[in-house]
Amino acid sequence: MPFFYFKAILLCLIVGSLLGILFNSLAWGVVLVLGGLLGWHYHQLNQLSQWLEQNSDSEMPEGFGVWSNIFNDIDRLQTRHAQSQAQLKAIFRRMQKSSTALKEGVVMLDAQGNLDWWNAAAKRLLGLKRSENQGDVITDLISHPRFSRYFLNRNYTDPLELPSPLNRNISLQISITEIGKNDRLLIVRDITLLHKLEVMRQDFIGNVSHEIKTPLTVIQGYLEAFLEQTAHLQGPMQKGMEEMLYQAKRMDNLVNDLLMLSRLEIDSQRENETQIDLNQLLSNIQKDAKDLAQQQNKRQEIFLDINQPATIIGSEKEIFSAFSNLAYNAVRYTPDGGKIEFRWWADKKGGHFSVIDDGIGIASQHLTRLTERFYRVDDSRSTASGGTGLGLAIVKHVLLRHDASLEIHSCPGKGSTFSCHFPKRLTTDEIQSGQKEA
Ligand code: ADP
Repeated sequence: MPFFYFKAILLCLIVGSLLGILFNSLAWGVVLVLGGLLGWHYHQLNQLSQWLEQNSDSEMPEGFGVWSNIFNDIDRLQTRHAQSQAQLKAIFRRMQKSSTALKEGVVMLDAQGNLDWWNAAAKRLLGLKRSENQGDVITDLISHPRFSRYFLNRNYTDPLELPSPLNRNISLQISITEIGKNDRLLIVRDITLLHKLEVMRQDFIGNVSHEIKTPLTVIQGYLEAFLEQTAHLQGPMQKGMEEMLYQAKRMDNLVNDLLMLSRLEIDSQRENETQIDLNQLLSNIQKDAKDLAQQQNKRQEIFLDINQPATIIGSEKEIFSAFSNLAYNAVRYTPDGGKIEFRWWADKKGGHFSVIDDGIGIASQHLTRLTERFYRVDDSRSTASGGTGLGLAIVKHVLLRHDASLEIHSCPGKGSTFSCHFPKRLTTDEIQSGQKEA
């Protein structure tokens, strides 16, 4: 093609030169023809500019040579553009229609977290108004502190449950997906019914456990009294009563754990928050763990490694329950002659508590499910060691309420390490190396 244009220019130069020779002025001849060529191109450019200024429906101008190609190419591009625009419009209309039919609220946020677009359900669930809220920051609109933390932390693996900003009786589940580089898509679901069912379930378990507690205490009390009275007797009667007392105690442990768990689930606030003296708390747990080892006829070395002094802000009852559950598990799942260590230390990330044992360990496929209620790796071993199957579920709930996390490392036959990580704002101790006490 460029060769064709080159030939056209060459032809013009030859014609100009011939005309120049004919009229005895070669230069004028060439200038005249090149001027004519320039004028013709200018005319074509003018036509192109006018055509582009008018809308695409106007007729394509007539062109010649290179201009005919340019006009055809632009015409083809315009047709293709119009077709894809029509397609996009149709897709957008369909999306708008289906997003209106969605029960879930969908909100599109830009990189700064400002509201860009939302569907009808989001309007209903969050009270958004197109005229007023366009461009508003989402954290101003959903001003709950838990949402701000969730939104800014950018860890959207799990959804967040919150009361609706419009009506506290409506429970919402919010999940966020990152799209593109920095945009985010917020999905809101009304889970009021589910939430009510969950509260009913928790209330039911709490009430049943509470009702069972009194008769169980009576049964246990009478059995203990009967056993004392009949201590001199031997035989199946005595054995039967001992077994009944053992099972009644197991049921009592289970009821206590169920009550604790339902209280943790129902109350969203931490109970009686204080500055906890961890040296005292962990010394008590170490002593109780040694007693438990003795009861189970196990000679275990149980160490405590802690900074002096160490404190944490939280509910003492809850923290005691979580730490002691981990400690007693270590005793129960570590055989005779084993070594167990409780460690507390603080660093710039926060406070950390670890229970390290060289016991039976846990295979990796169980680790993600350990904190589920009644999940047991080995049912018979857990029951034999007096487990309720609720210990780690309690640990998980207590840690959640203290914005802490649980980390589990374990290797079958080698041992386990259960670590609790607390945020810096809850710890007050200096960062220093610990010392060991056996
Ligand atoms: P349980 O009352 O049965 O011990 P938990 O919720 O405390 O219930 O623990 C769940 C399961 O995790 C246990 O059944 C046990 O199999 C396993 N587990 C917990 N701690 C340890 C540990 N230190 N070593 C080995 N297994 C453990």
